[in-house]
Amino acid sequence: MSHAGATHFDPERERMMLEAVERFLAREVRPVARGLEHEDVWPAEIVAKMQEMGLFGCIIGEEYGGLGLSASTYAKIIERISRVWMSVAGIINSHLIMAACVQRNGTAEQRSRYLPRFACGELRGGLALTEPDCGTDLQAIRTVARRDGEHYVVNGTKTWISNGIHGAAFAVLVKTDPRAEPRHRGMSLFICEKGPGFAHSRKLEKLGYKGIDSAELVFDGYRVPSANLVGGVEGQGFKHVMSGLEIGRINVAARGVGIARACLGGVGRLCADAQDIRQADLRAPSDTDQAGGHGDALGGRASPDRGCRARIRPGAAL
Ligand SMILES: Cc1cc2nc3c(=O)[nH]c(=O)nc-3n(C[C@H](O)[C@H](O)[C@H](O)COP(=O)(O)OP(=O)(O)OC[C@H]3O[C@@H](n4cnc5c(N)ncnc54)[C@H](O)[C@@H]3O)c2cc1C
Repeated sequence: MSHAGATHFDPERERMMLEAVERFLAREVRPVARGLEHEDVWPAEIVAKMQEMGLFGCIIGEEYGGLGLSASTYAKIIERISRVWMSVAGIINSHLIMAACVQRNGTAEQRSRYLPRFACGELRGGLALTEPDCGTDLQAIRTVARRDGEHYVVNGTKTWISNGIHGAAFAVLVKTDPRAEPRHRGMSLFICEKGPGFAHSRKLEKLGYKGIDSAELVFDGYRVPSANLVGGVEGQGFKHVMSGLEIGRINVAARGVGIARACLGGVGRLCADAQDIRQADLRAPSDTDQAGGHGDALGGRASPDRGCRARIRPGAAL
């Protein structure tokens, strides 16, 4: 990013970072990923380890305590994580979109107040745009923030918010002028920390991409200080969100590459396995030689046919 909190590419640093990430994945994530995904359990220990490694500050500038990594190094980290368990990439993604909104658009005071806490992972969260009646058409949001002295009073509901339960701070898109035309001119972005009037409600269940907490956020007379209006000016929220989503799109694209690589690896292993079975099959006595069974895969001894060979015959699914 070329904005405040500059990040840069350093090949040696990238190599070391990727090695550390690979070690972390092998030791801490791979052994538990399947179980946590199926049980839909939020991975507390993995999050703590990522915090220790500085991953919640990957793309936050070093002057704010982040790692200041380039977007391409960040993409490689996400790709490796997604090969093992994609949900972990989502936990980082929403948090860093919020951080990018502040890093790119926040006032100097907002950057120095929030970015160090985001970078060390002490304050984690995400991005709250979607509402029960509004997804793609973001300009139709109904959550409203009305000015009241040195605060704004927020009312509304957000849904499908990643990190919604375990996150404590969110970049929240609201209408500060619901009558503005064009509609995006009435939209503003606030950093809202959970407290009186702002809480999560239910956790939403999913078919996959589990572990990460998707939830509803409810604002009921929540008072957010006007100092938390990103950039300090009303009407810029839509633009701020779009700039933060840029890093989110890089994350999502890198996830796709990671998943595709994992699939390719899986298919490769299946093919190698099938090849072993085929070679063993060719060495074994045929069904006509030995009715009701065939040779043991490696020893050539007679054993019951377990149907393994079906996996390598033409037309059979691998
Ligand atoms: C697992 C998960 C995590 C999420 N995390 C977050 C999060 O952290 N923060 C957040 O704010 N949101 C989050 N979301 C919400 C997500 O951003 C929305 O689902 C998305 O914006 C789409 O909105 P929708 O689901 O209401 O679909 P809709 O807006 O109803 O769209 C449904 C379909 O219609 C199409 N469509 C819509 N409008 C038009 C049109 N005018 N012309 C042609 N086609 C159209 C869309 O492309 C889509 O294919 C999450 C969702 C999921 C499932």
